[in-house]
Amino acid sequence: MDFAHNDEHREFQDLCHRFAVEVMRPVAARYDRDQEVPWDVMREARAWGLHGLDFLQRVATDDDGQMGIIYAEELHWGCAGIALAISASGLAAAGIASSGTPEQIAKWVPECFGTADELQIGAYAVTEAQAGSDVKSLRTTAKRDGEEWVLNGSKVFISNGGIADVNVVVATVDPHLGHRGQASFIVPKGTPGLAMGKKEDKLGIRASQTAELVLEDCRIPLDHLLGGIEKLERKLERARSGQTGGSSNALATFEITRPMVGASALGIARAAYEWTLDWLEGRADERGPLLEQQHVQQTLADVATEIDAARLLVQRAAWMGRNGVPMTGGQGSMSKLKAGDVAMWATTVLMDLVGPEAGSPDHPLEKWFRDAKIYQLFEGTAQIQRLVVARMQTAERRRAREESATPEPVRA
Ligand SMILES: Cc1cc2nc3c(=O)[nH]c(=O)nc-3n(C[C@H](O)[C@H](O)[C@H](O)COP(=O)(O)OP(=O)(O)OC[C@H]3O[C@@H](n4cnc5c(N)ncnc54)[C@H](O)[C@@H]3O)c2cc1C
Repeated sequence: MDFAHNDEHREFQDLCHRFAVEVMRPVAARYDRDQEVPWDVMREARAWGLHGLDFLQRVATDDDGQMGIIYAEELHWGCAGIALAISASGLAAAGIASSGTPEQIAKWVPECFGTADELQIGAYAVTEAQAGSDVKSLRTTAKRDGEEWVLNGSKVFISNGGIADVNVVVATVDPHLGHRGQASFIVPKGTPGLAMGKKEDKLGIRASQTAELVLEDCRIPLDHLLGGIEKLERKLERARSGQTGGSSNALATFEITRPMVGASALGIARAAYEWTLDWLEGRADERGPLLEQQHVQQTLADVATEIDAARLLVQRAAWMGRNGVPMTGGQGSMSKLKAGDVAMWATTVLMDLVGPEAGSPDHPLEKWFRDAKIYQLFEGTAQIQRLVVARMQTAERRRAREESATPEPVRA
């Protein structure tokens, strides 16, 4: 087993890092303060080959599955809010790729990115006011009316909400069936009945727009149902007849993206760690140079170790995902859980180390501290990740016990 980066990984990491240093960092504080969509940086990302279909293809064809997490860590090192604004369309594209027919994927995934001249973005809308962690309780409905679907409901906390060209909306077709009665629909920008509700004023990742999406008698053509009507009818039929099997489209999408979210959190933790090392360098108090004091060294060693440990979990999960190794022990969720907790913890203890001035808005540490929190919240809260990991671990242990209890086949 070898997670050492090859030449292509190193070259790509260097490109991402230069983009973070030269394009993102200089404007990070401004976008954080003004809470504006960083369109100019998003266009630059396209020009640098770090956004769009070509970029996706490059990342997806990496046999080790490491390019996506390298990208996420480096860009979030630059600025988590801007990085999310650049990459949130990927979630919509993943939703389309995991549920759509080949024709739908070919049509709608490119629409989530647009062209170099005309940038487009996507949004993936699942969460509702009463259904965040509890995804099976979605209330947004999709009803068939002749040759159209009619969507009604409201989605909250949607990244790129209200500004996306392509919205992938998860709605319930049969509320009695929980997540098995749900389906994903494409709702293009400008569809009558689709409107932006409240735009959130946030603690962190402020350059990424988060808003409510309101759907009122929003009519879309039949073929905007991802996967097609026959697949949905088969799924509903299986669920109604009590057959087990099949899984939620939303959950499948989140599973694919979890190591990327973990890598994003690591970018913030690493930014805070590296900045604190620089800040400590050359500083001294009455006890001598700060970097030579044992309590400082204890904290730095713990932060470095935790970041490395989390990165190994992220690299393993990304590799497993790319190579089709089933994550039966919850490895994808573990990686996101650990990295999110490390980012929040590391930014907290590093602020403690620097002291009261670390809380000043002129100080980058306080921004990284604010940006870190979301990685314990979205794409499955830390508490939900723990439930997922615990359940998968238990199931894996039961399976192993059953297999070991199976008698050996009789040999002739
Ligand atoms: C900035 C931002 C961007 C987002 N972007 C998107 C997006 O693009 N698309 C989208 O669909 N959603 C998005 N979300 C929504 C996000 O995924 C949800 O906020 C998250 O899933 C939690 O759901 P909730 O807010 O309803 O909290 P709840 O589910 O109500 O949870 C509240 C608290 O209770 C805990 N809890 C809940 N159930 C349990 C349980 N069974 N056991 C133990 N603890 C539990 C949770 O861990 C949490 O601490 C975004 C949210 C934010 C803040």
